[in-house]
Amino acid sequence: MNPRITRIRRLVQVACFGLLLYGAFIWTPHQIELFPRIEPGEPRTTLYAEDRILWVSGQQSVIELYPPMLACRFTARGGLFKGCFLHFLSENITWKTSLKILLPHILLFVAVVFLFGRAWCGWICPLGAMTDFMNGVRKLFGGAALRVPRSLNRFFGNLAQFLLIISLGISALIVLPALGASGVNDALYLVYCQICPARLAFPLLGGVNPCWYDTTNGITIFMTIVGWLFLGFFFAGFLVPRLWCRVCAVGAFMSYFNRGALFTLEKRVPRCSFCGTCERVCPLDIERVYRERERRIVTDADCTLCLRCVESCPEKDCLEAKLVGLRVARS
Ligand code: SF4
Ligand code: SF4
Ligand code: SF4
Repeated sequence: MNPRITRIRRLVQVACFGLLLYGAFIWTPHQIELFPRIEPGEPRTTLYAEDRILWVSGQQSVIELYPPMLACRFTARGGLFKGCFLHFLSENITWKTSLKILLPHILLFVAVVFLFGRAWCGWICPLGAMTDFMNGVRKLFGGAALRVPRSLNRFFGNLAQFLLIISLGISALIVLPALGASGVNDALYLVYCQICPARLAFPLLGGVNPCWYDTTNGITIFMTIVGWLFLGFFFAGFLVPRLWCRVCAVGAFMSYFNRGALFTLEKRVPRCSFCGTCERVCPLDIERVYRERERRIVTDADCTLCLRCVESCPEKDCLEAKLVGLRVARS
């Protein structure tokens, strides 16, 4: 096995983690306090509005763009980027922002995802890097990874799609006057952010105390509990590689673009000895690379293009990764 690709990937992940979480400490010396910050436990008394965002450090990001991974809006000092793309979709669906304003962001997102696919997950996303770090710590102490049974993996995939659909659906529905009148809109605003571990983890890593609980009403208490459960699930990633990524709605959204992306994983079937190494080393337990017996392109919708399978495959030139048709790695 040649771990060279993993070593390069680790360096890229560390650099991106630093930039995404601490970039705003370097590039914005005069932070603008945009919104009043809600302290932990403090009831929300105002409805959402375009100029108000709940539970944030209330500061402006350096770059007003939404890259296709968890560049979280709640990062300390506003973060390098404005937020993740699910945040972008959710808030603008709720605000009914005009397509004209949204179009440049959507086009940019589609372009970069079609170019790199879910390599954003494997190489750039800070939450993905944290899950890899947790696995590294487990390995350091000699702990074995738990494998996720196929049926459970399928359930996680379905859960990710469900979270994606429900988040966008709620973002659209909460603007209905009937719901707004009962205050549901405020409690369910940016509903996915309320359960995403990045909202709690990223401010903490920048020295900002996030809003840990909200006792305003039954919905906010429920969402608080679900958020804690998901945070616990995230930390179960010490035992299971990329556990959170299996249920992440942002990853689920990108999975629609992965197979048609210009970053591809390819297999020369005649050279494959079907040893199963690629499946064994895959952090997401993806079977497709091993099982494929006909097609050359084996990029799975859930593949994060980490290239562990490529560097681990014992057969020369059996697996390769290509970017815009040019080979970037091979076994
Ligand atoms: S699946 Fe989600 S958490 Fe995992 S790397 Fe991708 S965007 Fe980040
Ligand atoms: S590791 Fe390589 S040789 Fe082994 S099954 Fe996977 S693709 Fe085939
Ligand atoms: S299939 Fe290969 S490149 Fe994709 S996630 Fe698994 S090990 Fe990484």
